[in-house]
Amino acid sequence: MGLEGIIKPHILGLEPYQPGKPVEELERELGLEGCIKLASNESPIGPSPKAMAAVREALEGVHRYPDGASFALRERLASRLEVDPAQLVFGAGADEILELLAKVLLGPGDEAVFAWPSFAMYPVVVQGMGATSIRVPLTGDLTHDLAGMSAAVTDRTRLIFVCNPNNPTGTSVGSEALDRFVESLPETAVLAIDEAYYEFVRRADFPNSLEWVRRRPGTIALRTFSKIFGLAGLRIGYGVADLELASYLQRARHPFNVSRLAEVAALAALDDVEHAERARSTNFEGIDYLRAELGALGMETWPTDANFLLAKVEAGTAERLLREGVIVRALGGFGMPGHIRISIGLPEENERLVKTLQKLREDGL
Ligand SMILES: *Cc1c(COP(=O)(O)O)cnc(C)c1O
Repeated sequence: MGLEGIIKPHILGLEPYQPGKPVEELERELGLEGCIKLASNESPIGPSPKAMAAVREALEGVHRYPDGASFALRERLASRLEVDPAQLVFGAGADEILELLAKVLLGPGDEAVFAWPSFAMYPVVVQGMGATSIRVPLTGDLTHDLAGMSAAVTDRTRLIFVCNPNNPTGTSVGSEALDRFVESLPETAVLAIDEAYYEFVRRADFPNSLEWVRRRPGTIALRTFSKIFGLAGLRIGYGVADLELASYLQRARHPFNVSRLAEVAALAALDDVEHAERARSTNFEGIDYLRAELGALGMETWPTDANFLLAKVEAGTAERLLREGVIVRALGGFGMPGHIRISIGLPEENERLVKTLQKLREDGL
């Protein structure tokens, strides 16, 4: 190539993100139809019909730029969350909010602290700004080591991610542990609590992150329309921050980062409470079914507050499943060889996975 000499060294060192293989691609490779994807934590029940109708209607207006302030969505969400509308920052997925945080807080010499294994985008956005990732290993039961993370915070730390529930393990931290952690943090670092799976949480003592946003300047909670609301393909997520932090993120944001279609879909999805409720109950049934069936196959699984499940499996299981037309996420790249992350599917998809695992077992894997 020849551009290497002028590209930023921290960009040269970036590994491109590896998304889950699309169903269509696998079907082409295998030359068969009916493959299923349980690998990207997408909603198995699809988007809200009300969101789809809103998108169809808004198509007529796509020659116009979006409302850069996302006024309608901002007002609705602010009243739902009982926050000031100016505390909300919208992005092309919560991913963009992560990127904005890195952009306004990090540069060479700065550090960002987060657990590992955790969300794959954290090291990408940190390194993207030439800053340093400080990864604190999960505890033995695969939850955040909050005491260890607190100890890893230095005067160079500018950003701390807590992924709750944690992707890819599904484990979560409760309010007591989080309170103790937040109280230990210096004012010189921003705390980002990533709650992409918030709406799926079942544990009773799950932290109220918005309370910390109210109490601690430099705190942001991240949520998304990609998971329970089934709008991953439209790209819209948001952060709820204190007014000052929100204002800096707004300055760094592109004016039209959220498309017209994404905004109207999010607004309609938010109001379709019934659809979100069905996504929740489908998820809970799937978790309970899969944990029982995988347990019966002698596989270890972990409790989950998200829409996916962590399972310990024989080496090579993800590749064997792929050849049978079932896509799951292998976690070798996260330093967890022999573990897979299974996104909860529709009942028939979950059954297909269990039957395929049984077949592999009988075939001697
Ligand atoms: C899926 C996910 C996100 C963001 O998803 P977007 O589609 O960009 O909104 C953020 N954090 C975690 C932990 C996730 O799993």
